Amino acid sequence: MSAELRYDVIVVGGGHAGTEAAAASARVGARTALVTHRFDTIGTLSCNPAIGGLGKGHLVREIDALDGLMARVTDKSGIQFRMLNRRKGPAVRGPRAQADRKLYLEAMQQEIAAQDNLYVIEAEAAGIIKTEDQVTGLRLADGREISCGSLVLTTGTFLGGLIHIGETKIPAGRMGEEPSLAMAQSLRELGLPLGRLKTGTPARLDGRTIDWNRLEMQPADNPPVPFSTMNSEITVPQIECGITRTNAKTHNIIRANVNRSAMYSGQIEGVGPRYCPSVEDKIVKFAERDSHQIFLEPEGLEDSTVYPNGISTSLPEEVQREFIATIEGLEKAIILQPGYAIEYDYVDPRALRPTLETKALAGFYLAGQINGTTGYEEAGAQGLVAGLNAAFRAAGSKPAQFSRTQSYIGVMIDDLVTRGVSEPYRMFTSRAEYRLSLRADNADQRLTPQGIALGCVGTERQKHFEQRFSALNELRDLTRSLTISPSEAAKNGFKISQDGVRRSAFDLMSYPEIGFEDMQRVWPELSDAPADLAEQIKIDASYAVYMERQQSDIDAIQRDEARMIPDGFNYSSISGLSNELRHKLETSKPSSIGQAGRIDGITPAALTLLLAHVKKHEADQLGAA
Ligand code: FAD
Repeated sequence: MSAELRYDVIVVGGGHAGTEAAAASARVGARTALVTHRFDTIGTLSCNPAIGGLGKGHLVREIDALDGLMARVTDKSGIQFRMLNRRKGPAVRGPRAQADRKLYLEAMQQEIAAQDNLYVIEAEAAGIIKTEDQVTGLRLADGREISCGSLVLTTGTFLGGLIHIGETKIPAGRMGEEPSLAMAQSLRELGLPLGRLKTGTPARLDGRTIDWNRLEMQPADNPPVPFSTMNSEITVPQIECGITRTNAKTHNIIRANVNRSAMYSGQIEGVGPRYCPSVEDKIVKFAERDSHQIFLEPEGLEDSTVYPNGISTSLPEEVQREFIATIEGLEKAIILQPGYAIEYDYVDPRALRPTLETKALAGFYLAGQINGTTGYEEAGAQGLVAGLNAAFRAAGSKPAQFSRTQSYIGVMIDDLVTRGVSEPYRMFTSRAEYRLSLRADNADQRLTPQGIALGCVGTERQKHFEQRFSALNELRDLTRSLTISPSEAAKNGFKISQDGVRRSAFDLMSYPEIGFEDMQRVWPELSDAPADLAEQIKIDASYAVYMERQQSDIDAIQRDEARMIPDGFNYSSISGLSNELRHKLETSKPSSIGQAGRIDGITPAALTLLLAHVKKHEADQLGAA
């Protein structure tokens, strides 16, 4: 803890965005303060106790590749690790782990407490202090003022937070915690574009009152695969989850009471996550389905609380009790906390640059749920980017940017700042056009070198990465140097075209049915390759052809992204641009030609015109200098 009143960077909020932001800022050497309501709520999993999943698991691996916290903390607290889509290709596999809520929070708090340069201040942030166009500090609700070079706001669902349970409304940031009202007002005064979104959570059940014997059980993977490349095994005991389903009786009760749900009575203005609908949404919108699956996920090894994944709701508590009692295995289940919906303010992320700095106020960054996203992983990844950039700005260094060609982090940030959101944004593999190269398995190869260059990767990980990377390259080179003719390949049982072209072991592994172990049969020098490197080479070989094909597209996008559009660029000077497109560009203020090209409706012709004018502007500037 610290009461000193000047920091390079202040991060507000100790959730998933805030912890990654504060740790990243401190890792690159900025004196950083984390201002949050309470130290003991740092790292709280507000909704389901699970990290990762499809698309989201990629983000966690990328956070890890940049030496962030989420993967390591999950490895210390995960009680059911599962690789989703295991039977599909590696590009769409999603590592996921259900976490012990208490172990997760403790592990996150240990990481924060152990981080050099990072000081936690328990307080409510109440307002931003600024000059006309630059942030200079933070005002706390107790009247103290702290000055800073940059400020990162990560207040999650707390800004103007309002809980709904049936007809009951409770102002809160999440159950049992006060909302952040003064800060919401401060953002309004800054003129940032605010909107309302909502999300929901199911009732929590007492696992001792669930009849587990009647339920199908789902075990963890054996062995569990860690999230972090720094860990080779998971030592936390693994548990099973139960699976049950809603039925006609459940649906009848929900249908009969749907007008008492906060969402259907018109009481909630905010838009909710389409991909994570409430149970009343599922029953109204998918009326043809007579049953929906529910995963019963224990919240901890020594906690009898169970999270029934799939029945989030804002129905009145008595209706929740009634419908839950119709579900197999839950007939006698006791509700420990009712489900609820929460509405909160968010900032239209088009008000941000790709560094997550607000365009309106220099040095002021936003990350996490406040930017219209939903999920711990989306929040954590943004936090890392905002924390790094806040620290670089405070130090006067160059910003860090992540391209959509290189990472899911880049895809998410580009989607947010270019297109904005119309509902809470969550990550999916389908959002990434280069998903064959952006895989969870190669996150370290894609991002750790950049992390090392940025200075956010510690020496232990750097050493670990460099050793693994050079061993991987050696093995790849070896598999490329060992070649075989088609007739020799046929003699070894491989079905390949008899075209006379010699193929390397690496080429042969691009065939789905040929594995590394087949190559070890042919070439004994491959026999002592470590299993994890062998698996990585097989995956790399499977995708090599696609990667080569994509490379020229990726190069073109990276070229366009590197061509920056200066702040205050005068779009009215471009003759030949329609008023509609000019208005779009003036409103969006894209940072680069690449970003301009992704704004809805911008045509290739308009982009060519813009590029020509940006080049002319650059030439004029050079001439003037
Ligand atoms: P949070 O984790 O909310 O952290 C915000 C932090 O800021 C807290 O530590 C808080 O104390 C602090 N803070 C706020 N205001 C101030 C202030 N003025 N001064 C000091 N500190 C402050 N995600 C999903 O992916 N799927 C779901 O189904 C889902 N359902 C949810 C249901 C509910 C009811 C809630 C509350 C959240 C749900 N989430 C869900 C969202 C998930 O919890 C968030 O996406 C994630 O926690 C966002 O992380 P964050 O860091 O942005 O904010």
